[in-house]
Formats: sequence, structure tokens, C-alpha cells
Amino acid sequence: MDTVNLTASWNPVRVQVQPGAIQHAINRAPHPAVAITGPRLRDQVAATGHATVESAHWAAVQALAADLRRRDRRCVIAIGGGSVMDATKVACAMADTPETLDADLDDLVAGRVPLRRTSQLWAIPTTAGTGSEVTKWSSIWTENGWKVSVEGRALYPDTAILDSALTASMSARLTAATGLDATAHAVESIWSTNHRPESDQHATDALRLIAAHLPLAVSAPDPEHRAGMSIAALHSGLALSWCRSTAPHALSYPLTGLLGIEHGLAVGLMLLAVLPVTEHLAPDRVALAAQALGVAGADGIAAFIRDVFHRAGLGTRLREFGVTPEFLEVITGTALTQPRFANHPGRLAAETIHEALNNIL
Ligand SMILES: [Zn+2]
Repeated sequence: MDTVNLTASWNPVRVQVQPGAIQHAINRAPHPAVAITGPRLRDQVAATGHATVESAHWAAVQALAADLRRRDRRCVIAIGGGSVMDATKVACAMADTPETLDADLDDLVAGRVPLRRTSQLWAIPTTAGTGSEVTKWSSIWTENGWKVSVEGRALYPDTAILDSALTASMSARLTAATGLDATAHAVESIWSTNHRPESDQHATDALRLIAAHLPLAVSAPDPEHRAGMSIAALHSGLALSWCRSTAPHALSYPLTGLLGIEHGLAVGLMLLAVLPVTEHLAPDRVALAAQALGVAGADGIAAFIRDVFHRAGLGTRLREFGVTPEFLEVITGTALTQPRFANHPGRLAAETIHEALNNIL
């Protein structure tokens, strides 16, 4: 078993690269263990205690927490993409924190009910992009299609196990979406006002791997490119865990919550929108990201992102994803209320954002 020597002491997650990760976790996790998956992987964990979660919507998280409270468990193993991991991280902590029985989502978001965790939490990502396996926050969706972030040390998994074979069945579209999410996490970490040398190191390592592996992971996938993207996504997640995301993520939430556009495609599109203006606000940071990706400037980063979309058979105009001119107001209005927006370098006025969105409509 390899233990990846990527995590500095500030990140408490123990990361392993382990072929056969699911069986390994079922064999090694403290028992009794409960494995949480989306519906697709149900059969692979039939030998252990098991529950499924469909999404990271608050109702699904509450149902999973109630299920976990009833079970005898020393370990919860989250196996899936970002939604499964985000939902399980919160549900596991809620199940271990009796005060959350009567808590609503606002209480958790505001930290009025601090989450604790007494059982072990392991995470096995089945996509290469989210980075949720090494962060202390979860994106949870309300029934109205709004995204909120729940945060706390209890949400750091104890162990993350990477097995890029689990990503082999991803379609070109899902590979592009999750890879663009990893790209956005790295680029946004670099220009975030919270960036620091350690996050820059992880983010530039991620972008070098993304340049080498993402285009072919989409259009001609093989184990080498899948493995490269798994490590790239991990580096991006570690970078992001210092920095938090910025304007592209803040702008993306209405696209996902209200129009149903996959998170990674939504952030890829929003990255395209804000790259030109961000180059004016933080030229050195954009240059650093471009250099790591092996391209020149914001134009070079944008060309790379467009190529990834095209390789998945997708266009890069917002209207191709169902966005109307009227919806640009919704995107702008929602984003300005998001705390993530404050991490963007410089000031982005509403008119500037609107113009940037209009340029890719
Ligand atoms: Zn993301």
C-alpha cells in the first residue's frame, strides 16, 4: 500500500493510493462499518453494512443521518463522487452529534450546532475532481435549489483511499466535468486572496498533471491518464482546502441548482467568463496558473478549457446549456451574496460580471 506523501501537517486526512480500494476498505475498516454509495455501486459493497444516498440535498442528508443513528457502527465509508462524499460527511457527523436531531440546515451552516464525530469516516472517490475527500466542508442543496456550505473539522475524513480504476467507467462528459472542476479548484486557489506557498505548490502540481492527462482522459482514456487525473484532483483539493473557491464557483451555483448543469461544467463555463477580467485584477496569479498549465495567459487557459469541452462533444456558449439573457441577472444576483465571492482578487462589480457572462452567452 502506498501512503501518498502529499499532506502537510495542517491537513489531517491520511491519503493512500490502493488498487482494489473498496474491498481493502471493507476488510480493514473498524467493524461494524457501513458503506454509503450512490445507487450504481450498491452491488460492490453488498458484503458489508450498506446504505445508499441519492444526492447531497438536505432531505437526503437528513434521511441518511437518521438511518446511521439507528445502526451499530464504528466506521462509515463514503464511496462515490462529490455528492455522495459531501452528503455522507455531514450525515455521519450528524449521526454522532445528538444535538442535531432538532437542528435545521441553517443551524449547521451558521455553526450554532457544532458537529462532532466519534465514528471513523473513510472516503473513496469514484471520480477525479471534487477533492471532497481532503476538505472539511460539504456543499448541501436546499429544496429551493440553493447551495450552502457546511463546514467543520468533523467533516475531514480520517482516511482517503484513491483507486483510479474506480474512475474508469466515467463517460467523456463526466470526465470533462470532474476534470474541469479540478482545474477550477487549482486556478481559483492560485488567484484566491487566501493563497500561500503551500497551496501554490499543490495547485501548480495539479495543473501540470491536468495539462498532461485531462485532454486524453476525456478523448482517449487509459489507466495512465485516469491515474494522473486522480492525483491531480487530490492536489487541487489540497490546494483548495487552504484557499476556498472564488468567483467561478460562486457564479456556478444557480447554473447547477436551478438549471441542473453539472457542477464541473458550470464552473468551467464560469472560469471562461471571468478569466479575462481576472487577468486585469491579478496578472501575476493568472500568469502562474498559465505557466503551470503550459500555456500563455488567460487566453491560453481559456483555450485549454474550451478544448476539454469540445473533446467531450460540448460547446462553450451559455445558451447551449439553456441559459437565457434574463438568467444572467439571476447568476449575478446570487453570486454577489455568496461568501466565496470575497476570496476573488480585486473587486468585481455587478456590471463587470454581467458583461463577462454576456461575452460567453
Ligand atoms: Zn468545485
